Order: sequence, then structure tokens, then C-alpha cells
Amino acid sequence: MTDHAIALSDGRRMPRLGFGLWQVRDAAGVTREALRLGYRLADGAALYGNEEGLGEGVRRSGLPRDEVWVTTKVWNDRHDDAGAALDESLARLGMDHVDLALIHWPCPRQDRFVVAWEALIRAREAGKALSIGVSNFREPDLDRLVAETGVVPVVNQVELHPDLPQAALRARHAALGIATQGWTPLGQGRRFADPAVRDAARRTGATPAQVVLAWQLALGSAPIPRSEDPGRLAENLGAAAVALRPEEVEAIGAGASGRRTGPDPSTLG
Ligand code: NAD
Repeated sequence: MTDHAIALSDGRRMPRLGFGLWQVRDAAGVTREALRLGYRLADGAALYGNEEGLGEGVRRSGLPRDEVWVTTKVWNDRHDDAGAALDESLARLGMDHVDLALIHWPCPRQDRFVVAWEALIRAREAGKALSIGVSNFREPDLDRLVAETGVVPVVNQVELHPDLPQAALRARHAALGIATQGWTPLGQGRRFADPAVRDAARRTGATPAQVVLAWQLALGSAPIPRSEDPGRLAENLGAAAVALRPEEVEAIGAGASGRRTGPDPSTLG
């Protein structure tokens, strides 16, 4: 059993296990159902085109706004006007602030992420984002943000699953006090049939998806699995109660191929 929240370097506590909204058509319905099941973190983005539904789902849940963690992200074509992009997200969400605003990708060829970061720093000062962080940032990108602004992101949301455990990046995060959040945590199910995953599933009575998520929780990462199906949403949330043994955690990571499911941050944008 892992702690249900991560203490961020800005003093706030972020729910460890959340749900993602990429490609979710009925964002209002999925958000409401996820919150009913007990999730408290919604991972959205301007790119996903469903911020209106996310905001609607939070309102329809009946939960006080401060009990739900809402994340959004500034897309790659808005690094030069990230403040305006965040304002547009807030308007679509129908909210006066988000809990976490992220720069979605560093886009090293554009080389404008420091400007975007300065805008997010101002947005935090204005109370529009209670915490600010980044996504898909590589070690040198993080170093540059810190060197040029002195402000360390509280979160770096990166691709993380049993084929891509991100050990070096996680170590760097730990040294800088950055929380690791993991996208595509189910890794397209590529490793569900692995002996290490199946053995742990058999011993704990959990499903392979739960074992893969529990492995990430054991590493200290914060996974944000996506499903539109209430049964799978509940299954994924149940991963928080699955306790893996250290040797199981090691065995699951040992088979990592290093193969990504998504773009390489060095070349995107
Ligand atoms: P995921 O690992 O959550 O997998 C989603 C897929 O797995 C879907 O096809 C779903 O139907 C299936 N699935 C869900 N639960 C299952 C279960 N219990 N058993 C079997 N299959 C199951 O992948 P994802 O959506 O790519 O990533 C999750 C979230 O991460 C996204 O929704 C988004 O919020 C975020 N994300 C962020 C970035 C980024 O650049 N920051 C990139 C990709 C995704």
C-alpha cells in the first residue's frame, strides 16, 4: 500500500493515482464516473479538446472544487503566449484556476520553453495555476529551466511503463525534488503477459493492469491511466491496494526494452 498523495516541493499534496482524458469522447461522463469511484486527479490538456467536458464533469460530481485536482497543459504552438493559452483553458474548463499547469512538450527545436515557463511562473503568482510543472522534459531541459529562472517544476509528466522505467530521469527528479508522473502507464498492454507480471498477478489476486500500475506506485511514480469503461476505471483505481514485493518490482522492470509508445521529446515540435 503506497501513500495516496505525493508531497510536492511547493508544499501541496497531489493525488498519486489519477485518470487521463486523452481521446476521451464523453469527458463529462467519464470525469463524473471517475470522481464517483474515488479518483481525485483528472489529467487534461488543451490538446485533448475536451476541457469543457472535464470542467462539466467536476461540477456535476458535486464535490467541492478543492477536493479535485485538475491538470491542464499548454500545447506546443503556444510557448510564446502560454499565459493566454492557460486563460483559454480556464475559460473552457469554467474554472478560475487549475491545480497544475504543465508545458506539454519542450520542443527543443523551437527553443521557447523558457519563455513559456516564465509565463507559468506569472500565472502561479496570479493564482491561475496553484502548481506549475512540465511534461516530457529531458534532463538538460530541466537544468536549463532551473539555471535561467531559478524555479524548479514540481512535476515532470513523462512516458513511463514497464518497457520504459525512466530510471535515470527519475533519479534526476529525486535530486531536484521533482515528482514523476507517468503517462501511458499501461504501456499498451505490451507486458501484461510477461511471466513477472503474471506471477505477481497470481500471487496478489490482482489483474495484470493493476500489477503494472502497482509497479509504478512502488517506484514512486504517479500513473494516470485512461479508460472510458467504468469497470476498468474501478480496476485501475484498485491498483493502489496492491502491494508488490521488492523482488517483484525488480523483476517487472528487468525486462524493459526501452521502446517508447509515443514521440521522442528530442524530436517532437
Ligand atoms: P494508458 O496507458 O492509460 O492506456 C489506455 C488504453 O488502455 C486504452 O486503450 C484503454 O482502453 C486501455 N485500458 C485502460 N484500462 C485498462 C485495463 N484495466 N485493462 C486493459 N486495458 C485497459 O494510455 P494513455 O491514454 O496513452 O495515457 C494515459 C493518460 O496519460 C492520457 O489519457 C493522458 O491524460 C496522459 N498522456 C500524456 C501525454 C503527455 O505528453 N503528457 C502523452 C500521452 C498521454
